[in-house]
Amino acid sequence: MKLIFASSNHNKILELQSILPKTITILSLESIGCFEDIPETSDTIEGNAIQKANYITEKYGLDCFADDTGLEVDSLNGAPGVYSARYAGLQRSADDNMTKLLEALSHKENRKAQFKTVIALNLRGEQYLFTGTARGEITIAKTGNQGFGYDPIFQPEGFQETFAQLSLEIKNKISHRGKATQQLIDFLNDSK
Ligand code: IMP
Repeated sequence: MKLIFASSNHNKILELQSILPKTITILSLESIGCFEDIPETSDTIEGNAIQKANYITEKYGLDCFADDTGLEVDSLNGAPGVYSARYAGLQRSADDNMTKLLEALSHKENRKAQFKTVIALNLRGEQYLFTGTARGEITIAKTGNQGFGYDPIFQPEGFQETFAQLSLEIKNKISHRGKATQQLIDFLNDSK
């Protein structure tokens, strides 16, 4: 089965390829000649995933899936949420985003948070949504150098390490994206 993954994030493509079975071939946007920025203008994580998947299906007529992820912090009423990538500005700097979040939480006792990933799949004229969450806490300081994004300041429940200190294998098993992707895989395997 061939599916377009509507993402230009190289890290995410690598993570996903390490989870997916070899029977499912993921094609990148480049391979279908799509080099434009796909709009992400919704005010929800679900809405953005749907918007990206629909853009490819409508423009290229291909089956496709897209994901969107946000970090929802309890004491900030779910912020930065859908705005996680641009939390500290349009330069989308992971380091600036983490610094801003650590400052926003400097006087908060409750540091609980969750990552949420929604995958929207357009397959044979139908649309399906898969949601995965990973709960944890925002650490006091950036720790670890693996992964990407907010990984150095997110300590998943049941672990003493941040995502940036855990191997990709362990992160895939417990992460928001790993869980949403597992649902996608189960669904694809069942619908073959
Ligand atoms: P996107 O929807 O995957 O583009 O992610 C939105 C924001 O969340 C970006 O700032 C990403 O760096 C961040 N993000 C997404 N997934 C992860 C993750 O697994 N770990 C840490 N940060 C992530």
